[in-house]
Amino acid sequence: MLKALELAGFKSFADRTRFDFPDGITVVVGPNGSGKSNIVDAMKWVLGSQSAKSLRGKEMSDVIFKGSQTRPAAGAAEATIVFDNADGNLPVDAPEVHVTRRVYRSGESEYLINKQSVRLKDVRDLIRGTGIGIDAYSLIEQGKVDRMLQANAKDRRAIFEEAAGISRFKAKKLEAERRLARVQSNLTRLSDIVEEVG
Ligand code: ATP
Repeated sequence: MLKALELAGFKSFADRTRFDFPDGITVVVGPNGSGKSNIVDAMKWVLGSQSAKSLRGKEMSDVIFKGSQTRPAAGAAEATIVFDNADGNLPVDAPEVHVTRRVYRSGESEYLINKQSVRLKDVRDLIRGTGIGIDAYSLIEQGKVDRMLQANAKDRRAIFEEAAGISRFKAKKLEAERRLARVQSNLTRLSDIVEEVG
């Protein structure tokens, strides 16, 4: 389902760079420090990672190309992940879904789905239950297998629920329950007022 990743000004990728992931297995090779892990960082980042530490930096702006001896620093970092949606697996009416995240030196940041500005919540909703989220099992990094094996029953269950696509509905249910509670309390307040006035 992952089709491509496009980076610009992201960490060591100063120039616009596109990685295509054709069917089958893709292997990225290169010397130490050449930017292999930065590609995985970009995927986590575009899918909404809020933790600079998990991206091996101190601050979020650390993802912006910081310049080299031969070229100046970039003003912004951008990453776009392209999913093939021919099977309609993602709830977007388009054969391809582009999720973009951009951050400027000022700290301003934005998310886009197919070039439309959206909230982080929309990105999370889009990928929830598909197994491609940052907390899901599709990005298996060093130490993660260990953590999965050592997880308690509750955490392990969450991994299976994400894989089975249940977590999407659980989150929707929780949201609906919260809304219901708000309406209920508004209703109580309203009936108090009605009583007072009456
Ligand atoms: P290894 O095989 O050692 O794990 P790697 O290929 O995974 O290496 P990365 O860790 O992805 O390499 O890349 C690290 C490189 O990215 C370093 O050279 C670092 O200077 C560079 N880098 C990280 N952040 C930035 C940034 N904001 N601007 C420019 N370069 C950066």
